[in-house]
Amino acid sequence: MMRKLFAWLSPHRPQALPEALWQNTVATLPFLRGLSAEELERLKSLTEQFLAEKSFSAVEPLELSDAICLSIAAQGCLPILNLGLGWYRGWLGIVVYPDEFVIPREVQDEDGVVHRYDEVAAGEAWEGGPLLVSWSDAQLAGEGYNVVIHEFAHKLDMLNGEIDGIPPLHPGMDENVWSRVLLDAYDDLCDRLDAGDECVIDPYAAEDPTEFFAVASEVFFETPDLLNTHYPLLYAQFASFYRQDPLSRMRPRGLLD
Ligand SMILES: [Zn+2]
Repeated sequence: MMRKLFAWLSPHRPQALPEALWQNTVATLPFLRGLSAEELERLKSLTEQFLAEKSFSAVEPLELSDAICLSIAAQGCLPILNLGLGWYRGWLGIVVYPDEFVIPREVQDEDGVVHRYDEVAAGEAWEGGPLLVSWSDAQLAGEGYNVVIHEFAHKLDMLNGEIDGIPPLHPGMDENVWSRVLLDAYDDLCDRLDAGDECVIDPYAAEDPTEFFAVASEVFFETPDLLNTHYPLLYAQFASFYRQDPLSRMRPRGLLD
């Protein structure tokens, strides 16, 4: 059962966010604290446009609140802070679940036999369709696990058709270099997991290169020092693609020393 959102999120009419609500949201998202005043102002403006353009709904028993929509919108807008809202074109809906939810899956094996099963998920991004997210998981943002950034990274990946861990790259970026760096890091992570090593990022990243891109994007924005330490070449590619350097935002706060 879906519920409709508040009037102030009506389509196509960006409205100024109440300042206290915006400040409360920023305070709950530690990875936003390193943004400059100018960047925070731009994030706020982008978030206002996002809220005007996208349509939120919730699955019972969750009831949408301004704070929920704003938190998801602000997190979702961070990856496109220097790219623009056009990077989230082609879809409108965000469905917020109270908790993890079940997605019926269907796969066909090599003998043509169709296997059906249920997968429990914290988020899901449908190509050309809505983005689904668990609110209880979204509230865990801050320590390298960020389901919102994860799903929005999938949306960026989907923008050029194939879902393959390669979003549309900017002029001057080389898709071969991106692929090689991403796959090298992915292979290294899989080797480490096979060897029983402690994993610096969520082992779910080993699922496939697409998931690796989404999980590594979470790490890039939330704990960039980890990504830069273990996969510096990947960090550099992400910095070029997202046109951000989250590591530089950590330094003034002395979080690395
Ligand atoms: Zn994923």
